[in-house]
Amino acid sequence: MPAATYDLVLRGGRVIDERNSVDGVMDVAIKAGRIAAVGADLAKDATRVEDVTGAIVAPGLIDIHTHVYHKATSLSVDPGFIARRSACTTLVDAGSAGAGNYDGFRDYVMIQSPYRILAFLNISFPGIFGFDKGVSIGEATMRSMLPVDRCVAKVEQNRDRIVGVKVRIGGIVTGDLGLGALELALEAAEALDLPLMTHIGTAPPSYADVVDMLRPGDILTHCYRPDPNSAIGPDGKVIDAVLKARERGVLFDIAHGMGAFGYETTEAALKDGFPPDVISSDVHVIAVEGPGYDLLHTMSKLLNCGLSLPQVIAMSTSRPALAIRRPELGHLGVGAPADITVLRQYDSNYVFEDVVGTRRQGSTLLQPVAVYLDGKSMEVSRRPFEESFLTGHHHQH
Ligand SMILES: [Zn+2]
Repeated sequence: MPAATYDLVLRGGRVIDERNSVDGVMDVAIKAGRIAAVGADLAKDATRVEDVTGAIVAPGLIDIHTHVYHKATSLSVDPGFIARRSACTTLVDAGSAGAGNYDGFRDYVMIQSPYRILAFLNISFPGIFGFDKGVSIGEATMRSMLPVDRCVAKVEQNRDRIVGVKVRIGGIVTGDLGLGALELALEAAEALDLPLMTHIGTAPPSYADVVDMLRPGDILTHCYRPDPNSAIGPDGKVIDAVLKARERGVLFDIAHGMGAFGYETTEAALKDGFPPDVISSDVHVIAVEGPGYDLLHTMSKLLNCGLSLPQVIAMSTSRPALAIRRPELGHLGVGAPADITVLRQYDSNYVFEDVVGTRRQGSTLLQPVAVYLDGKSMEVSRRPFEESFLTGHHHQH
């Protein structure tokens, strides 16, 4: 008997891979940790076969806004717990660490984890240092907290895992410094030729003033935050500054968290033809038990808002991979790392809630089935708070 061609074949799932223009029922074959083939009838050449009929086979999910500098920063959560529950293969930390404490993040969290953990480095030297239930201290209120040269030097030494610069803008985070903090962060990102991820909070500065300064490829995170200071004008339409920003290539990211997903904003934006570019969770210590929970739950939420399954998958795989300039991730092309997320879509009567307490009756939920990281099977955990709301079998669209 000839030696098997493939180590593992996932047989019969609906494969959704935007980058390679794939959406259909087929097999995915893995060899030596990489995608070896995608097509029909691959199982006969495999050492091991997993039947995933009726399931969705997607590139490994990428959450580009998490906080996982666990136990060293007060806002962060355990990356393993989050990756298992949300069926992610790649977690990108959004500025929990700055130049002053990044080395600990790398040595004590990133390299200890089996998952791909990447980071935006905070322009603030101490990172997000004072954030917890009842504690909220701005990390970008003084120029002396934002030494551009230190940020640039730390990124230069760690380009393997640092994918961009992060800044939080608005309200008490920046205080009187306001847009001055954004200028310094842009200076660092420009020097590094990397994207800047900018958080938008309460005014000042205004949503328009912030997006006006962003460059092509920069990421506005918390794009569907509720009023006040949302992307929607008094006429119920997306404001001009936001439309202009998208036109020049600024990317808009959900980052649900505990303050940044409002149904009124979301529904107005979608009605006005303004879907997000990327879906992310902003999972942290206050959001991890709802209403944002994690990336997979946030994907379900957007699915229930009317985005299609292929859109939601693309916004959580290929789009974030390109946003962080890691084109090798987020797709299932032959030769790519075998990062794969297997999901099922169930009928459900789950009632979703946004960050201001507005509720919407849902009809469907995505649930994790399996995750492969570099071809290796990883544990997934169900989210118990959702299980009792599943009312029917998964769909087969
Ligand atoms: Zn965040």
